Amino acid sequence: MKADTARIGWIGAGHSPLPAVIYGTKAAWLSEAAALGLPVPPGFALPAEMLGELDLVAELDALAAQTGTRLGDPSAPLLLALRASSDEGASASVPAVLNIGICDAVFPALVTALDLRVAQDLRRRLIQSYGIGALGMEGEEFEYALYDALKDAGADAEEELSADALAELTERCLNLVAAETGEPFPDAADQQLSGALNAMAAAWNTPRARRRRVARGGADDAPLTLIVQQMVLGLGAGNSGAGIAHLRDPDTGVWALSGRYLANAQGDEALMGLRTPQVLSKAEREEKRLPDPALEEVCPQTAHALADAGARIEAALGDAFSLDFTLANGDLHLLELHSARLSSRAAVQVAVDLAESGAITREDALMRIDPVLLDAHLHPMIDPSAKRDQIGQGLPASPGAASGPLVFSPGAAEEAAATGNPALLALIETSPEDIRGMHAASGVLTVRGGMTSHAAVVARGLGTPCVVGAGDLTLDVIARQLTAADGRVFREGDVVTVVGGEGQVLAGAVPTLQPEITGAFATLMDWADQVRTMGVRANADTARDADIALGFAARGIGLCRTEHMFFKDGHLTTMRQMILAESEAERRTALEKLLPMQRADFVELFEAIHGLPVVIRLLDPPLHEFLPHGLAEMEEIAAELAVPVEKIRARALDLAEFNPMLGKRGCRIGIAFPEIYEMQARAIFEAACEAGARTGAPVKPEIMIPLVSAVRELELLKTLIEESAEAVRTARNEMVDYTIGVMIETPRACLRAGDIADKADFLSFGTNDLTQMLYGLSRDDAGRFMPDYVAREVFPHDPFHRIDEEGVGEIIRLAIERARAAMPGVSIGLCGEHGGDPASVDFCQRAGFDYVSCSPFRVPIARLAAAQAAIRARR
Ligand code: PEP
Ligand code: MG
Repeated sequence: MKADTARIGWIGAGHSPLPAVIYGTKAAWLSEAAALGLPVPPGFALPAEMLGELDLVAELDALAAQTGTRLGDPSAPLLLALRASSDEGASASVPAVLNIGICDAVFPALVTALDLRVAQDLRRRLIQSYGIGALGMEGEEFEYALYDALKDAGADAEEELSADALAELTERCLNLVAAETGEPFPDAADQQLSGALNAMAAAWNTPRARRRRVARGGADDAPLTLIVQQMVLGLGAGNSGAGIAHLRDPDTGVWALSGRYLANAQGDEALMGLRTPQVLSKAEREEKRLPDPALEEVCPQTAHALADAGARIEAALGDAFSLDFTLANGDLHLLELHSARLSSRAAVQVAVDLAESGAITREDALMRIDPVLLDAHLHPMIDPSAKRDQIGQGLPASPGAASGPLVFSPGAAEEAAATGNPALLALIETSPEDIRGMHAASGVLTVRGGMTSHAAVVARGLGTPCVVGAGDLTLDVIARQLTAADGRVFREGDVVTVVGGEGQVLAGAVPTLQPEITGAFATLMDWADQVRTMGVRANADTARDADIALGFAARGIGLCRTEHMFFKDGHLTTMRQMILAESEAERRTALEKLLPMQRADFVELFEAIHGLPVVIRLLDPPLHEFLPHGLAEMEEIAAELAVPVEKIRARALDLAEFNPMLGKRGCRIGIAFPEIYEMQARAIFEAACEAGARTGAPVKPEIMIPLVSAVRELELLKTLIEESAEAVRTARNEMVDYTIGVMIETPRACLRAGDIADKADFLSFGTNDLTQMLYGLSRDDAGRFMPDYVAREVFPHDPFHRIDEEGVGEIIRLAIERARAAMPGVSIGLCGEHGGDPASVDFCQRAGFDYVSCSPFRVPIARLAAAQAAIRARR
């Protein structure tokens, strides 16, 4: 019984486009192009599960009516192509069967229409493609047959073979197929078609085809639709051949024709390297100084037709495509559309073009770009054509590529920068005192540490390319050398490159390309800002950071880590004096000296931020981090401060803690030494007065207290800050508008968020510490086993990188609920590393955050991620 043919889809002018979910993208996109009136050979698409139910008589009649030729008709034979259609990436897992319908009965007509040699060649190709596409035979078997034929004929290339030689080759191919199937190759056109359909459906499910589609990103069990189409020969008179056209420059996304074309060819032969294809564009031919003219020069009308087809397809389908095409005696036919392969920059250009032309909406354009890919716009990149000599692999801590002569100490990095030749700083791991060296270095490499280790966080903040945890490199600090796993040794001054975005360490200098913020990128960012509902701020400690943040359109600073100011030249010594003080009076004397330094830094920062909001966090790290570690450095400091080295050593010992991350840090310093926070508060208020007076833009500092876990900590420190404000007001007769907030980064603070919000103007979640404390997992040591944990799916992601919604996320939601219940209007932000991770930004939108704050270089990523989160929330 004839099965229901309603599910057969037609490809051709006058037919509606086919849905991709039923017929696969190849059939769907071709049917779209055909519906636009573009030259697509007519045909139909048949879901494979319908095979066996059908005789296809009606379909073949319809094709005969459309083409004026008929399958197996000795006077006007129709030849067919059979192609697989499925999800993109899966379609190509079985190759096409071409030239179906050539049998003895129709051969004379082909000879008359083409010539004997072409007819022979077509027949040979039918058998070969049937063997490969339908029977799943190896292409090499046929290549060996061709090789033998060439040898026998004394020929170098296929096109030199005579009709007789091709006939002989055809015989060899027939024997190969017969040996495979145990039967002669069918000589009836309709048997060829039904045989090819059934064999292709069987080939689709072979392990080899499954492996191929998985390798191309398709699904192992992707469904199959068979496309039966009129064959366009690509062989014969005039300009005939096959090729692929790319219409957009794959790096920039602007309109530019490129691709390959091979005369007298079918299918994807232009890409198979059997013969040298022509390029499509004159520009490429000239640039590469190729001897043969470009297709554009030989057939300008084809180049125009391709560009026109590309533009119409983009407008209709809302995406960029590359086109497989065939020329038959000068006439263009489109045989397949592929999603264009584009760099992230090109993808932005195309998305913006499409939205501006109305082909897609702005929201679609925003949703289409993976925010993480924007990173490529923001940092220097390795020239894609450069050779890489990889010597190590670590974690991609901070993107961008940087080369430089190796140095093994922060001091050496500073010296190198002073000579105008920035060095690449390699260390076991970094600590806060290395920040100046990191600042001065072209790039940073550590052999230990994870994605939220000190080096990683600071490098991201500075925008310095950085690879951490490159454990396959051995660093000998004493000998000052780095040894690669292959035994190669790199000494001070040897040039090395880090590729921060990929975690690679390379030998030698590698050419880089500077990032360009193109017009399209800026436009996309503008649209993102119009759509998003969450604010995006930057974590910025200096005026330089603030400048970068503003350059990336951050709306203020969400975290200024004031400790970084104390590591500046000249400041560190005074800071150390303060830490070495043996009494409050002595400490106050040192703090008096620190006050103007801190004030000057704040003035600079406030001026740079032009009146936008700025969150200043009071001192957070444990004090021992400011003291030198090694004896040599202790001696140096002792001489500088004119104190016995013993005193420094004793103080360092005194401050040493078993778990400094859980020790005397954060607001605990402020409770133990209130005079330190008092000095900082005073510096903030005085700087606000000065900067406000200078710029005319009032500064409204948001003072943040770190590591709070009990509301009493907030109460004590709030009083202290308010008293400072009052003192400054009395002294200067000027009132600074300010707020006081709390950093929520301990589990207890989350649970007590109601009490805390009741007394705070804002809350900012420090998700680095919160993750560390909730998991009981050191952020500095996690890198040692995190890759194993993620690989074995203990955690779906590194929780220091992407917010763990199940655990950390749950306690954050609970904290927000309690905070808003107590104080509905309290502002809620996030300032941990997660602020620059798109999935975490999406969580923040769902959890009701007011803003996220991240490293300046990740601000554009967060802006786009916030826009996408807002769109998702609306949809
Ligand atoms: C945090 O803990 O998330 C945070 C932003 O503070 P820091 O990284 O300085 O500890
Ligand atoms: Mg913290």
